[in-house]
Amino acid sequence: MSIKSNIDEINARKLSAAKAAGRSDGEEITLCAVTKTRTPEEINEAIAAGITDIGENKVQEIVDKYDKVNPVRWHLIGHLQTNKVKYIIDKVTMIHSVDSMKLAEEIQKRAAAHNVTMDILIQVNSAMEESKFGITTAETEDMIRGILENCPNIRIRGLMCIAPFEENPQDAAVYFREVRGQFDEFAKIDHERLDFKYLSMGMSGDFEVAIAEGSNFIRVGTAIFGARDYSKKA
Ligand SMILES: *Cc1c(COP(=O)(O)O)cnc(C)c1O
Repeated sequence: MSIKSNIDEINARKLSAAKAAGRSDGEEITLCAVTKTRTPEEINEAIAAGITDIGENKVQEIVDKYDKVNPVRWHLIGHLQTNKVKYIIDKVTMIHSVDSMKLAEEIQKRAAAHNVTMDILIQVNSAMEESKFGITTAETEDMIRGILENCPNIRIRGLMCIAPFEENPQDAAVYFREVRGQFDEFAKIDHERLDFKYLSMGMSGDFEVAIAEGSNFIRVGTAIFGARDYSKKA
């Protein structure tokens, strides 16, 4: 299967999942290609096939590939160390993995220095898995308040969630549903820098379940490019 035929197939599955869930906004659900370990050539092939947004989880990979990849929106979707914010502040469209005030304050500092407003998502770990980054749903409100008070160069655009791996993807629905419930609450608040638009949920194994639970931004790697080989350096 080629990258293009995989993308076409995922787009079709995305639309039918939305339709099955009674959603009329299937076309507006962003298919973000997760390009970690992939070469610039593979990424450009995906862009030629219609991909407009790509996600990387390591700062180093963004820096290494940035100049070799055709124009596209870059998303930082993995854990971000504060000392690396400076390398990506002028490269990414949105940071999906904000999970501490310390990180938000560093993003604030770097965004202010570049005179930009950075769009971010708060990463919520609704399953409270020890192995995953993200804050608990109970902590979300405090973090949002902290960012609105202390980080004038950050605009909060929504929430991101990585569900636990489930043998049956349907079992992830409960975690997505909790984050969606929070999303809907914050989306009601009228504030210039709390402009909820993106609910980033769903990967290769569970994106249809995430769409049924309201996701409008799916992050798909394996189903587009095949299995990752971490021994091969991109
Ligand atoms: C790797 C990754 C994905 C994509 O996972 P696949 O199972 O390959 O689709 C999505 N989100 C995050 C945060 C990731 O690190």
